[in-house]
Amino acid sequence: MGRLVMKFGGTSVANIERIRNVARHVKREVDAGHEVAVVVSAMSGKTNELVAWCRDASPMHDAREYDAVVASGEQVTSGLLAIALQALGVQARSWQGWQIPIKTSDAHASARILDIDGGEIVKRFADRKEVAVIAGFQGINPQTGRITTLGRGGSDTSAVAIAAAIKADRCDIYTDVDGVYTTDPRIVPKARRLDKIAFEDMLELASLGAKVLQVRSVELGMVHNMPIFVRSSFDEPDAIDPHATPPGTLICSEEEMMESHVVTGIAFSKDEAQISVRQIEDKPGVAAAIFVPLASANINVDMIVQNVSEDGKTTDLTFTVPAADFDRAKETIAAARDKIGYARLDSAGDVAKVSVIGSGMRSHAGIAAKAFAALAERGINIRAITTSEIKFSVLIDTAYTELAVRTLHSLYGLDKA
Ligand code: ASP
Ligand code: MG
Repeated sequence: MGRLVMKFGGTSVANIERIRNVARHVKREVDAGHEVAVVVSAMSGKTNELVAWCRDASPMHDAREYDAVVASGEQVTSGLLAIALQALGVQARSWQGWQIPIKTSDAHASARILDIDGGEIVKRFADRKEVAVIAGFQGINPQTGRITTLGRGGSDTSAVAIAAAIKADRCDIYTDVDGVYTTDPRIVPKARRLDKIAFEDMLELASLGAKVLQVRSVELGMVHNMPIFVRSSFDEPDAIDPHATPPGTLICSEEEMMESHVVTGIAFSKDEAQISVRQIEDKPGVAAAIFVPLASANINVDMIVQNVSEDGKTTDLTFTVPAADFDRAKETIAAARDKIGYARLDSAGDVAKVSVIGSGMRSHAGIAAKAFAALAERGINIRAITTSEIKFSVLIDTAYTELAVRTLHSLYGLDKA
C-alpha cells in the first residue's frame, strides 16, 4: 500500500464525462489499496473566463477580489469530482484551500505556500478510507483570512506541496500529454518521451519555455525530494494495471538516474524582446542606472550582454525582457535617459530564445561550441548568448526558431530512431 497524490489539469476535467473518467482513474488506485488525495484544476478555459470577467468589471480591480473570483473554478471541479467518486461507491470529500488550511503569503494572485496542515486528511485515510479531493491553485492568508491564488498554472504547485505535507510516496500529474519530451513534439516530430529526468534539468526546461509543469512545482519537488510522475489522463482508466509502470516521465533526484545524456532537452520561448542601449559611458554606476529602474518596475531582465569599450569611453549594453513587458521596459529606460546618458535605444520584438539543457554539461566541454557551428551552417545569426553550468541559451530571430530547435535536437542525438 502506498500514498498518492493525483493531480488533474483543466483538459482532464473539461466536462462531466471527463470528470467521470478521472473518477475511474482514482477508483483504480483506491481499489489497488492506495491512500489517495486528488488535486484538481478548473475546467479548461474557466480560469481565463473568470480573469476576463474581472478585467471587464474593472481593469484596475482589487487583487483580493480577483482571487475570490478566480478561485471559484477549482471549487466547482473539486465538488463535482467528489460527487462522481461517490457515485462509483468511493468514499470522498472535497476540500477548499481554506478548509485544510493551505496557508499562503498575502501576495494575491501570486501567493506562496507557507504551510499545509495535512493532519485531518491523513486521519481520514485511516478512519474512513476517504479520498480527499482538493481544489488546486488556492489557499488562505492566515493574517487576513482572505482567499488567495498561487498564479496561473498553480495547481501543479498545490499538488506537489500537498504531496510533501502528507508524505506521499509520489505525486502523479495527469495531463493532456503522456510525459516530458526532449522538445515540443509539435515542432519536432522526432522528439522522444523521457522515462526519467532529474529535477535540475526539469527546472531549466520548465523555466526556459517547456509548458508541462509550473516551475514552482518542480522547485518544490526538488526541495522535498518528492518524485513527480507526468502521465496522460486520456488513457483508458480500467486498462491500466496499477502495479505496472505506465507510460510517463518520472522527475526525480539525479542519484536515481542510471545514466544521463549530456543533453537532456531543448526548450524555446518566442515571448522575448531585445533592447540595446547604445553608447553609454563606460564607468561605474551605468548598469545600475539601467537595471534598478527596470527592477523597480517589476520587469524581469534575462540575457545581458555588454561590450568592453574600445576607446575606454563608451560601450553598448543589450538585454532581453519578456515580450509582455517590452513597451514598459522601453518607456522605463527612456524615462531614465538623463541618468543613464545614452545616445540611442534600439529594440527588436521578433526574437526567440532557444536553450539547450543537460546536467551532463557539467562534466563535458565544447557542448555549446558545437551548437554555434551547427547554427552558423544553417545561416542562423546569434544575437546574444548566455550560459550556466547545465544550460546555454541563444537569442535568434523568431523566424528561425523551428529550424534552430530541429537542428540542435538532431545535433545532440535526441531524435528518436
Ligand atoms: N486553473 C488555474 C489556471 O488555469 C490553475 C491551474 O490550472 O493550474 O491557471
Ligand atoms: Mg497546468
